[in-house]
Amino acid sequence: MVASIIKEATENSQLKTLAHELLDGIGPRLVGSPKMQQAHDWAVAKYTSWGVTARNEKWGEWRGWERGISHIDMIQPWVKTLEGTQLAWCPSTGGKDVTAELIIIPDVADSLAFVKWLPNVKGKFVMISMMQPTGRPDYNWTEFGAKESVEKMKKERTDQTDAWRKRISKTGLTNKDFALALEKAGAAGIVGSNWSAGFGVNKIFGANTKKIPTIDIALEDYGLLYRLLESGKNPKISVRTDSKELGMVPTFNTIVEIKGSEKPNEYVMLSAHFDSWDGGTGATDNGTGTLVMMEAIRILKKVYPNPKRTILVGHWGSEEQGLNGSRAFVEDHPDIVKNMQALFNQDNGTGRVVNIGGAGFLHSYEYMGRWLARVPAGYKQELETRFPGTPSAGGSDNASFVAAGVPAFGLGSNSWLYGSYTWHTNRDTYDKIVFDDVRNNAVLTAILVYMACEDPNTTSRDKIVLPANQRTGEPGKWPEQRSPTRKGGVD
Ligand SMILES: [Zn+2]
Repeated sequence: MVASIIKEATENSQLKTLAHELLDGIGPRLVGSPKMQQAHDWAVAKYTSWGVTARNEKWGEWRGWERGISHIDMIQPWVKTLEGTQLAWCPSTGGKDVTAELIIIPDVADSLAFVKWLPNVKGKFVMISMMQPTGRPDYNWTEFGAKESVEKMKKERTDQTDAWRKRISKTGLTNKDFALALEKAGAAGIVGSNWSAGFGVNKIFGANTKKIPTIDIALEDYGLLYRLLESGKNPKISVRTDSKELGMVPTFNTIVEIKGSEKPNEYVMLSAHFDSWDGGTGATDNGTGTLVMMEAIRILKKVYPNPKRTILVGHWGSEEQGLNGSRAFVEDHPDIVKNMQALFNQDNGTGRVVNIGGAGFLHSYEYMGRWLARVPAGYKQELETRFPGTPSAGGSDNASFVAAGVPAFGLGSNSWLYGSYTWHTNRDTYDKIVFDDVRNNAVLTAILVYMACEDPNTTSRDKIVLPANQRTGEPGKWPEQRSPTRKGGVD
């Protein structure tokens, strides 16, 4: 069976086709966006074409929003089209360009002084991010910089970052109220730059404004505007953001099933969130986890069509806003959760799986160790395991199941600089996928699922005694099951 899995994965890999159709053909998958819905429909059609049962299961509703074009140009003191984009849920400029000067958030004494200063934003784009002292990532400085220069840069940057944080906190407002205060005071828009500590890479999250655009500009162009403004050159930018509000729309998980032949009411589940942020195409967060699970199922359907236990896949909606899809599934399907043999989740990039822990289940080594033993050496060369490990309280969807007592394991990938270069960034795109590693993970996952289905024993759910809280001395507590947000994106 293991040989058949490897053969199918190697000789007939569908990973590139799946990646192209999902990431290039559909694109990013923000909760509540039409693209998220398209992706769910695509997944169901794809599984159906493989003869596998799949359905979209509604778990809630969300503010519907559709991203349109973002155009950002500097038109004064010279002309340059700037690299940047509107944040998710950014208001539309109504098909028009908004042209205005800029102003930087000043260093005021306190919240009263800020309120007094606020009228200055009228008709201007407000720059709310610090200008980074360098656009070079630290590894580049370390490789080429003189030791003293590296240290000096780091100290300057830390001081500036601290000072900027204080500058914003002195307004006395939370991020959301801060944006709304600027909007209310008549700002033309909000301009930030959320640098992600790598060359040319910014993180793109959501807007807090209701009427005016909120945009992110790349470090290079943000610095250009900032320096021109500070030196009195009076830069002007022109911004157009198109978007559509679609009212409240239903949100789904795609649930996939291959019925078990001997123990149909016991389950082995594959898990990967399907939604993404929308600055890139969500290729490694979590396109690659999605591909791993789809490819594993495609392979298993071909070489292991009659599993002993029922195999399920959860392609979750809205992990990014708080594990909502998986929390809803756990809440809505207590009978499945109660009878789940194991769950495998992958959600930290394109890399080979190098970390697996026992999630705090006392006897996890007994079964996971046995299953992993059947994985050929080439597919676990750098794998480090920690048993019994500790329960995950968040971070990804396996936590939703661990909280309900399910032996749910995260398959931890190696880095490929995921945190800086692709996680939630404008550079999370198809070209970052390392297909050999993803194929490796599909094989590993398929073997684990096969072993979990075949195991004559039901997995033990006994938990470890958690260490006491170091701060309070109180006994350690197992993470609690939490309810999802079923109505999202509304105040
Ligand atoms: Zn993710």
